[in-house]
Amino acid sequence: MLQNSNNLKKNRDKNLKLMILSGTALVVLFFYTIYKSSSYIQSSTYSFGLIFIFILLVFAVVARLKKDKIQEFINKNKIKNSAFEQELQKTQAKNEDIKNEEDSSHIEVIKPNTTFKDVAGIASVKEELEEIVEFLDNPKKYYKYGIKLPKGVLLYGPPGVGKTLIARAVAGEANVPFFYQSGASFVQIYVGMGAKRVRELFAKAKANAPSIIFIDEIDAIGKTRSGKSNDEREATLNELLTQMDGFEGENGVIVIAATNKIEVLDDALLRAGRFDRRVKLSLPNINDRELILELYLKSIKHKLDVKKLSSELSGFSSATISTLINEAMLYMIKSNDKVLENRHIDIAKNKLEFGKKENFILNDIEKEILSIYQASKAFITKEKVGLFDENSTTLKSIFPSKNELKNELKKYLSGTIGIEVLKDEQYAIFEEDLKKADNLAKDMVDKYAMAKDYKELIEQTKVELKTILDENYEELNRLTKIMIEKEVIEKDEI
Ligand code: ADP
Repeated sequence: MLQNSNNLKKNRDKNLKLMILSGTALVVLFFYTIYKSSSYIQSSTYSFGLIFIFILLVFAVVARLKKDKIQEFINKNKIKNSAFEQELQKTQAKNEDIKNEEDSSHIEVIKPNTTFKDVAGIASVKEELEEIVEFLDNPKKYYKYGIKLPKGVLLYGPPGVGKTLIARAVAGEANVPFFYQSGASFVQIYVGMGAKRVRELFAKAKANAPSIIFIDEIDAIGKTRSGKSNDEREATLNELLTQMDGFEGENGVIVIAATNKIEVLDDALLRAGRFDRRVKLSLPNINDRELILELYLKSIKHKLDVKKLSSELSGFSSATISTLINEAMLYMIKSNDKVLENRHIDIAKNKLEFGKKENFILNDIEKEILSIYQASKAFITKEKVGLFDENSTTLKSIFPSKNELKNELKKYLSGTIGIEVLKDEQYAIFEEDLKKADNLAKDMVDKYAMAKDYKELIEQTKVELKTILDENYEELNRLTKIMIEKEVIEKDEI
């Protein structure tokens, strides 16, 4: 405050001096001009000039006499301005505070009390993550043998299948802090803020180790770097990669990330030493849905046939099942009933069907089509296939042979041809697989010179598939029935 008023006084004096100096200079200049040019100026103009100088002089004298008043007036305005400036500064400081607060408040630490008991079904996922729990529980046991654990685990699968839930359960089981961040929250308007947040997140997690960092929707920052530049996202992704490279498992920090779109992730993220452990979560199958229903109905009085209901909920994600029960309960309460019954479920189901596309809820015909599609895939690959599995690459070798690539091509095309064989009709289903087939065939032609024309290669593969599947019509039918009933075909059933 004191410094402010001193500055104010200094400025005021300086201004006044400058004013007097320029006034004097003007008057001198004017007299000099008139003196030099008086002989050429007509008398009336000359008199006007003199009068003007006189007025100027009077004005200067008045200004000198009223100096204090003028100063007071200037001060007032200055104060007004500085009050405005102060207000502006205050607001700016406030905004800065809010920004900083937002920054650190987004990094929230949770001690979850969720455990594996709260996660129904997905037994194989739990099994895979059990090892992480054990490591976080007793890291020393692992260091002793020099075992390196993955730094990053990537959970991938459709929305609502429990990726976040299971990550929290891992933290709950191991009783370690859980740092939740959504990928989108890293991508800031200000360049550099996302990277800063990544650094803070890792610093906090390390300070609280053993701990878990969970990054939801990692695709928001981890998308393949395209031609279009997005400095902020790239800076954030680079910082994430740097941070992940910069720590070893010994730090006791495990990064778990989740995504619905693994295919769009930058390869750099999937390289060794980063998210090299990948765990797939699919839509729950019939058994899992039963377990999920049992979990949600545990403390509810009901008259439902859980087995039958679970078979009717094909395509429901775990989250949709939870919403379904919730909605049904709302109708039960609304209608003053005390016991949950089928009619409440039916009303809730109808409501959910409106959001069918997002919820991927299947009717009987749709389920049959999807079952044929997946059964054909199981028959061709001789591998276990679930009803809601998506085709991801199964190429294992770094240098795949032509035969391996052709088999991969067959896998992508088998579903559509299988449907054609059993239903004698074409269906628009899984365009993604057709795109993958196209890209692979193009690579086989352009990159590896294994064929002359990619369209021809695809056509030829389709003909081969049609012949095999036609010849095994009955077998395909049998597998389809298993798929409809159990929503999964095990390897030994093929
Ligand atoms: P994702 O992260 O895969 O989108 P979430 O973990 O956020 O899905 O799941 C959303 C909600 O769905 C959870 O809060 C939980 O209520 C329910 N849910 C999901 N999976 C399961 C499961 N396996 N068992 C019980 N509830 C589940």
